Amino acid sequence: SEERSLNFIEEIIENDLSSGKYETLITRFPPEPNGYLHIGHAKAICLNFGLTKKYGGYTNLRFDDTNPITEKTEYVDSQQEDIKWLGFEWKNELFTSDYFDTLYDFAVQLIEKGLAYVDDSSAEEIAALKGTPTEAGKDSPYRSRSIAENLDLFARMKAGEFADGARILRAKADMSSPNMIMRDPIIYRIKHAEHHRTGNKWCIYPMYDFAHGQSDSLETITHSICTLEYVSHRELYDWFIEHLEIFPSKQYEFARLNLSYTVMSKRKLLQLVNEGVVSGWDDPRMPTISGLRRRGYTPESIREFCERIGIAKRENLIELSLLEFCVREHLNKTANRVMAVLDPIKLIITNYPDGQEEILHGENNPEADDKGGIREIPFSNELWIEREDFMEEPAKKWFRLAPGATVRLKHAYIVKCEDFRKDPEGKVTEIHCTYIPESKSGEDTSGINVKGTIHWVSTKHAKNAEIRTYDRLFTVESPDSEEGDFKDYLNPNSIDVIKQAYIEPYLANADIDSRYQFIRKGYYCVDKDSTSEHLIFNRTVGLKDAWAK
Ligand code: ATP
Ligand code: MG
Ligand code: MG
Repeated sequence: SEERSLNFIEEIIENDLSSGKYETLITRFPPEPNGYLHIGHAKAICLNFGLTKKYGGYTNLRFDDTNPITEKTEYVDSQQEDIKWLGFEWKNELFTSDYFDTLYDFAVQLIEKGLAYVDDSSAEEIAALKGTPTEAGKDSPYRSRSIAENLDLFARMKAGEFADGARILRAKADMSSPNMIMRDPIIYRIKHAEHHRTGNKWCIYPMYDFAHGQSDSLETITHSICTLEYVSHRELYDWFIEHLEIFPSKQYEFARLNLSYTVMSKRKLLQLVNEGVVSGWDDPRMPTISGLRRRGYTPESIREFCERIGIAKRENLIELSLLEFCVREHLNKTANRVMAVLDPIKLIITNYPDGQEEILHGENNPEADDKGGIREIPFSNELWIEREDFMEEPAKKWFRLAPGATVRLKHAYIVKCEDFRKDPEGKVTEIHCTYIPESKSGEDTSGINVKGTIHWVSTKHAKNAEIRTYDRLFTVESPDSEEGDFKDYLNPNSIDVIKQAYIEPYLANADIDSRYQFIRKGYYCVDKDSTSEHLIFNRTVGLKDAWAK
């Protein structure tokens, strides 16, 4: 919205644009294609694309695919789909792997400047010489290798002469820097592995620190925005740019999104998928964008959520209920209201002629400007109502059905409960009512006032539907920071399936992904596996925050 004050990144950008430091703002979103995007990525997407929407310029999509082992084309495709679904368009579609030749040349340039060397030490030996933050590191015995020898060895690393881990290329930076990252960081490692795009062309791969800033620079990214873990990497980011004498992209860091009752690392989400804890990356309980979409979230609600949480410089934990609030708000304005009975019990209207039917009319959405149009609702003498809307011995202030009580049937008539039937176990099986013909909604001349309105569907016209209700996937606020494995804190009751719910016939042909309010129940959307023979709805969110105290 227009009223909020600028966040610190916007302040930097406004200064850079008004001082003429840059003419065009260029940002990038750089996912690693090693999993599906999640709500944390949505925050980075909204930030990077949002900035160029606001200030002009453009945003690149760059797949940060320097790790051949974990990356897959399936993930590239899903990540693209999710960004588009969120409502953003990238300018250039790029892959860090497209820069492998250039990055190799950059490494050679550093060797030629005496700023990189091939180290034959093992990982343990390197770690042992690295020192501690308060104690300077010691030089590797290979640090003084000649430029010629380094050039030869690096070329042979590339040619595949050595085994994985036998040698690495390191930057010759500063072994006594208080910043441990600057103590001769590794820039290339040997990995005989097939890459999802470059195949077997390479057996050496650049490290993140050597690939990221240089890729930013090659694309003349002006503001390279990343999360706080990279604060200590910024010095190295600048060091490479300075010594390679390339375009000076600048890195800025913001606090990553942490969401309560959620884990967000792709590695952990992959574990949930692989171990069958969830049905897939798009399981409606997952914090992935595809999971949220299948759950019924709208792009607008996710963008609004990202806007509301803002951009911070310090880590914090955002309440999951805020995300739910945002979708509830948006669906309240956009979702058509319909009637669905989830725990059915039969109501028979004894004075409505058996076999007679009529069509009633219901407003689809009182919150929408055009009221969302009008739909037809068939009515007859036999209805399904919610079991919980009847009480044999009503509590105080009970305004729903009970022996002798009156209630309005939504969009229909006022009925009075005259009698009910029970089965041998004492479970109520049928409620018998009379209706008041002059009380039809919209043309009520009965003069009768009732306090309660309940929803219903005509048994003869109702469609059967499966309803899936979801709860939080974890039982604790921060599954990541608890003792033991995060999976010890899984909620065993995170899904509840109702096989036999009844819905209005209006919903028989509802499109996949379309969203509704089941009145008095919550917001629901049509699952991707739903068919006209077997309708399936996912509950997006309840009508109220069930967790509010
Ligand atoms: P993960 O551990 O979930 O894989 P990542 O940072 O390794 O996270 P990337 O694919 O490298 O995942 O992330 C792409 C971009 O999204 C990066 O710029 C990263 O900073 C940003 N990002 C990732 N997670 C979050 C988060 N929780 N909040 C904000 N931004 C995030
Ligand atoms: Mg990353
Ligand atoms: Mg990662």
